[in-house]
Amino acid sequence: MRICNICGKSKKDSKFKHINKKTCKRCEFRWKRSFLRLLVHDRRITAKERIANRLGYMGTGFIMIAPYILNQGAIGPIVYIIGGLICIPQVFIAKQWNLVAVNINVMIGYTLYLINSI
Ligand SMILES: [Zn+2]
Repeated sequence: MRICNICGKSKKDSKFKHINKKTCKRCEFRWKRSFLRLLVHDRRITAKERIANRLGYMGTGFIMIAPYILNQGAIGPIVYIIGGLICIPQVFIAKQWNLVAVNINVMIGYTLYLINSI
């Protein structure tokens, strides 16, 4: 039997986490703390997600560059189309369907732009 230093009650040794603990398990538990731990639960990403994330950053770079070279001939729309294509895996794996639709729309739109400008 030990005495908890928070609640002051005498409790069995099984109510303490280990032999040197002065605070009982019940006094250590806090709803706010355990809820925050639940929210930030450590999630390791898989290899597929990691590759998709890298491709997503690369595609974002392409899409960011494309407006500035749009009037330099056919290279602008081609960069847009490539950017849209390699952004799709990331948003597809993350199930962000609105961004999948945006990327497909970018690809279709700039394919039409490319066809019409030739
Ligand atoms: Zn206690």
